[in-house]
Amino acid sequence: MTAYIIVIVVVAVLLLGVGGTVLLRPRGMHGTRRGRARELDLTGPLPKASDNTSPGSGTTSTATLPTAAELLAPSAPAAPPRPSLEKPPPSAGRMVRLRARLARSQSGFGNALLALLSRDRLDDETWDEVEEVLITADVGVTPARQITSDLQTRVKVEGARTPDEVRAMLRGELLAQVETEASRSLRTQRHEGRPAVVLVVGVNGTGKTTTCGKLARSLVGDGETVVLGAADTFRAAAAEQLQTWGERVGAVTVRSDKEQADPASVAFDAVATGIEREADVVIIDTAGRLHTKNDLMDELGKVKRVIEKRTSVDEVLLVLDATTGQNGLRQARVFAEVVDVTGIVLTKLDGTAKGGIVIAVQRELGVPVKLVGLGEGPDDLAPFDPATFVDAILGG
Ligand code: GDP
Repeated sequence: MTAYIIVIVVVAVLLLGVGGTVLLRPRGMHGTRRGRARELDLTGPLPKASDNTSPGSGTTSTATLPTAAELLAPSAPAAPPRPSLEKPPPSAGRMVRLRARLARSQSGFGNALLALLSRDRLDDETWDEVEEVLITADVGVTPARQITSDLQTRVKVEGARTPDEVRAMLRGELLAQVETEASRSLRTQRHEGRPAVVLVVGVNGTGKTTTCGKLARSLVGDGETVVLGAADTFRAAAAEQLQTWGERVGAVTVRSDKEQADPASVAFDAVATGIEREADVVIIDTAGRLHTKNDLMDELGKVKRVIEKRTSVDEVLLVLDATTGQNGLRQARVFAEVVDVTGIVLTKLDGTAKGGIVIAVQRELGVPVKLVGLGEGPDDLAPFDPATFVDAILGG
């Protein structure tokens, strides 16, 4: 009896062994690549639980596949390809292209004014609110009062107000505040056989070096040849950053090998290179340390004097960060006392609801906003256009 039971158990174990092997083979995959992979799997280490090995899942074992290195080896290039020169778009029409960013960031300001002026009754409280909205948007106290009182007069004279009339009235008033007599065009044409020189000044962190790079691109896009001068020798990364901008569009960057080199000597060399290479424009980035006004005056004064040994400085662009409000205005005042600023570049106007700073800074310095930064992209610097700006504020 015992022998009989042993025989039955042995037969059962043998049968189960053969059956188990058969069951482990995936069905319907023989002859296919996946089938072969699966068969080979069974001879190698077992797949981990995390591997999806159910038949038909599309996952194949790495055992039959070439390694990543094998796959890459034959097609990998011997050396990285040289980046080709970029062809930036011309400057014209850029502000219209970027208007949506302005509209997004300014919406609070324009919409709030439109809503207030569309009320049935415009009492003193409402006019106070109008003034407050303008002040909050960094227009400045005096211009805010002036705009409010002008609007009050117009409402009294013109009487009934449809939404279109309110918009037109506000548009006219804001435009009058933003427009200036001074030209907003940049002096970047060669003269007396020499390149135009643009000095870019401002406190570090405002976007000065980025603006030099974007401006170089924009000028190249307009068909001009540019030399960059890395005279911000204070911030170690600035020269590198500027050179990268230049290389992308084929503009030469003049920089010093020495750390903390004399900015005036770099500026001089940049202008000399511009003259030698018959460039149209030399753009010089400077360091914007504001520890004392005298230091700043000494440094920028020296840079300017040294350049003027070879040619004139045609533009002094002051870069201001639009998000810094009153602080930015204080910086602007100091720079205006130290150098003859000919134009303002307002950066980061895409990231603020305080577009009123355009009005405040022009009024404060008596100098027009010439360029605006509307993003971190390489072509997000635009010539400033008052009508596009006001329309964007009013969401038009
Ligand atoms: P610098 O120290 O004045 O030379 O400042 P940088 O040129 O290094 O810029 C400081 C930071 O501001 C960088 O991260 C820039 O990308 C950023 N930036 C410059 N202009 C703009 C702008 O118009 N919009 C936004 N959103 N960021 C900007």
